[in-house]
Amino acid sequence: MTMNCKPISTIDQRINDIRMRTAEIVNNDIIPNEGRLWAERRAGETWSDRTEVLELRAGIKEKVKQAGLWAPHLPTEYGGMGLDFLAHAYMNEVLAYAIGAASLFGVVAPNSGNQSVLVKYGTEDQKQKWLLPLIDGTMESGFSMTEPENAGSDPRSITTSAVRDGDHFVINGHKWFTSNGIDADFFIVMCRVVEAGQEGSKVGPMVQIIVPTATKGVNIVRGIGVWGRSESDHCEVRYEDVRIPVENALGRVGEGHQAAQDRLGAGRIFHCMNSVGQMWRAFDLMVERATTREVHGGLLQDKQFIQGFIADSYIDIQASRLMTIHAAEKIDQGLQGARTDISAIKIFVPNAYSRVVDRAIQVWGAAGVSNDLPLAGMYMGARTLRIADGPDEVHKILIAKNVLGQYAQGEGWDFGN
Ligand SMILES: Cc1cc2nc3c(=O)[nH]c(=O)nc-3n(C[C@H](O)[C@H](O)[C@H](O)COP(=O)(O)OP(=O)(O)OC[C@H]3O[C@@H](n4cnc5c(N)ncnc54)[C@H](O)[C@@H]3O)c2cc1C
Repeated sequence: MTMNCKPISTIDQRINDIRMRTAEIVNNDIIPNEGRLWAERRAGETWSDRTEVLELRAGIKEKVKQAGLWAPHLPTEYGGMGLDFLAHAYMNEVLAYAIGAASLFGVVAPNSGNQSVLVKYGTEDQKQKWLLPLIDGTMESGFSMTEPENAGSDPRSITTSAVRDGDHFVINGHKWFTSNGIDADFFIVMCRVVEAGQEGSKVGPMVQIIVPTATKGVNIVRGIGVWGRSESDHCEVRYEDVRIPVENALGRVGEGHQAAQDRLGAGRIFHCMNSVGQMWRAFDLMVERATTREVHGGLLQDKQFIQGFIADSYIDIQASRLMTIHAAEKIDQGLQGARTDISAIKIFVPNAYSRVVDRAIQVWGAAGVSNDLPLAGMYMGARTLRIADGPDEVHKILIAKNVLGQYAQGEGWDFGN
C-alpha cells in the first residue's frame, strides 16, 4: 500500500506542492524498493548486490535533488530547501511514511542537527572545514553529550572538562550513546570549561567543541549493543587528554547549553512529525491486514476487538498530528512560547506511536514481529523515543512548572493560544 497524501485545504499551495512531490517519490521510488534499499548485509550477498543497492540509493537521491526536495532543514545557500518550520514539519510526515526515506532526502540525525548548529553558531572557517563536507556527504559526524556517570536528563550535570592550555583545550571525559560514532569523522562534544586541577567539577560554563575523531586520545570503547543486538553505532567514547585548538569551539564559551537546547527544541517537532508519518504507515498496514485476514470464520475487520484497535489508533494519530502542527505553528512565532507544547508532544506522540504500532503488530500476529514488515523496528524506535531527547518525566515537570507559574501570576491557562 502507498501513502494516500492529497492536498490539504487549510495550508498554502507551496506546502501542498512540497508534500505532493515528496509523496510521489516516496510512493513510486522508495516504498516499492524498501526491501532492497535497507536490507542488512545478508549472508551470501555479493559485492554486485551491494553496488546495485548503492546505485539505487544514488539514483533516488538524484531524483530528490532534481525535484528541489534535498535537505529541507538547510538554508538555500548551503544547498538546502530553506524551508520554514511549518513547511518542514508537514514535509516530514510524508517523508517518514517510508522507512529510511529521510536519508535519501539528505536529512539524517545526528548529521542534520550538527549541520543546523554549524549554520547557526559556526565561524566561516568552521563552515568551510566541517559543514560543507558534512553536507556533500564526504564527512560523517556525531553529537557527544550524554555521560554514563551523570544523568542525561539533566544535561547541566555533565563533567567532561575542557581546560585551556595556550591556544588549545585539553578535553577529558567519558560519554556514551554518541550516535553514528563508528563512522563519524568528527564529534561535537559538550564540555565544561574549568581551570586545571578542577577536572570533574560540575561548575563552570559549557561549550561545544568540534573534535575530529582521529585526534589522539579519542577512544571509541564500543558500539553499545541495544535491543538485544550485540552492537550498534551508539558509541561509548573516552576522551583522554585530547588536545583541540581553541578555534574549534562552536559559539562562545557559556553558549553550549543554549546551543544544545536550540538543537533539541526544533528536533523534537521533526521527530514527532516523523512519528506521525510512521504511525500513518503502521495504521495502513494494520487496516490492510484487517481487511484481508480470515480468522474463525470471518475477516478480522468484522471483529469488534479489531475495530476498537482501528478507532483507538485513528484517535492517537489525529491527536498527535494536530498537537504537533499546533506546536510547529507556535515555533514559527517564537520558540519560547512553544516550550510547553513541545514538551507535551514529546510525551504524547512517542507514547501514541508505541500504542499504534503495538496494535498493528497484534493484528499481524507472528508476521508483526518478523523482519518482513517494518513494525518491529518501529516498535523499538517508538520506545526509545520516550527516553532520547529528554525522558517523559522531565517534560512533565516542565509542563507543570509552566502551568503552575502562570496560575501563580493570577492567570489561568489559555488553551486557545
Ligand atoms: C538510541 C539512543 C540514541 C541516543 N543518541 C544520543 C546522541 O547521539 N548523543 C547524546 O549525547 N545522547 C544520546 N542519547 C542519550 C539520551 O539523550 C539520554 O539517554 C537521555 O537524555 C536520558 O538520559 P539518561 O539515559 O542518562 O537517563 P537518566 O537521566 O539517568 O534518567 C533515567 C530515568 O529517570 C527518570 N527521571 C529523570 N529525571 C527525573 C525526574 N526529575 N523525576 C522523575 N523521574 C526522572 C526518567 O524516567 C528517566 O528515563 C541516546 C539515547 C538513546 C537510547
